[in-house]
Amino acid sequence: MKIQLDIEPLDNKLSNKKWPFLIAGPCSAETEEQVISTAKELVKLGKVSAYRAGIWKPRTRPGMFEGVGEIGLQWMQNAKKETGMMLATEVANVEHVEACLKYGIDILWVGARSTANPFTVQSIADALKGTGTTVFVKNPVNPDLQLWIGALERINRAGIKKLGAIHRGFSPFQKMVFRNDPTWSIPLELKTLCPNLPIICDPSHITGNRELIGFMSQKALDLDMDGLMIESHLNPDAALSDAAQQLTPRDLDRVIFDLVLREPISNNQEFRTQLDTLRSEIDQLDEDIIQKLSSRMRIARKIGEYKKANDVTIFQMNRWEQLMEARIAIGSAMGLSEQFMKGMLQHIHQESIRIQTEVMNSDNPK
Ligand code: PEP
Ligand code: MN
Repeated sequence: MKIQLDIEPLDNKLSNKKWPFLIAGPCSAETEEQVISTAKELVKLGKVSAYRAGIWKPRTRPGMFEGVGEIGLQWMQNAKKETGMMLATEVANVEHVEACLKYGIDILWVGARSTANPFTVQSIADALKGTGTTVFVKNPVNPDLQLWIGALERINRAGIKKLGAIHRGFSPFQKMVFRNDPTWSIPLELKTLCPNLPIICDPSHITGNRELIGFMSQKALDLDMDGLMIESHLNPDAALSDAAQQLTPRDLDRVIFDLVLREPISNNQEFRTQLDTLRSEIDQLDEDIIQKLSSRMRIARKIGEYKKANDVTIFQMNRWEQLMEARIAIGSAMGLSEQFMKGMLQHIHQESIRIQTEVMNSDNPK
């Protein structure tokens, strides 16, 4: 089922260049000089649609730099006077919204921690009623697509039609190479459910590492994201927040230069025919796989019935270990990675156990 959002296209002076919507600027506004000089460097790149700077910083622990507050909006307004760039910042409560409206901030975004709280989102939505502002909603810190959609709906129902989503990854359960887990299936599902909603990717907060921003930006564009939000600071190592993940405007220029913009579909007829042929082969193979899985589960059910009749437990560790080992070896001989094989076998095994548990607990006489 598609989600109905009443959406209008975003304003973008650069859109005629077929360039993705790019928001760039420092994690935080720190001084007036920093806000204005950074904007001047970024406008020179000719690729930045809006200038970001965090004014109120939602920090995980108290005592860290919490932002300069309202004075920073004045600095941003001055940066706009100098460069003409649209302005973007994060709002987390009604006072922030009101202050941003007062200083003519063009784009407001709801941060990941706020999106996770429907009360906060609703109060922001109420404050935005009738303003016609452009609003982006970052994904919540937890991987909950419904919570993300709910926040977008609340803002949209307040009459905000210039609406977009920002994918910034999800707090990881365990330490991983990225700061936040991208879990691409979630933004891709959002794209499927809301095809007219622009979704941009924030590779700075996903990777937490300036060396990986180019890689993650390319990945986002290859997955058909509509734009990027990238943190840029004149002297990243001295930044008061998120130092490790900010790029100098010069390094950002290089990242942008290296990006390859691929078309979702090519007009070349031969390419299309080839693609259609290969896709129908994939469709056929998927059908075969589904049929085989269904047969496998039918047999698992039968085994469950035998186990029940003979009072044997569902799970036998030895058998499972041997099976995993043997299948992974075959898979790797056929060019499938160990990680893929493990994940797939675990899924299949879980479904078998579910079916056998159902059989075990059914009331059929032995
Ligand atoms: C930010 O954009 O600086 C920020 C705090 O982001 P997030 O809400 O994604 O953590
Ligand atoms: Mn940041």
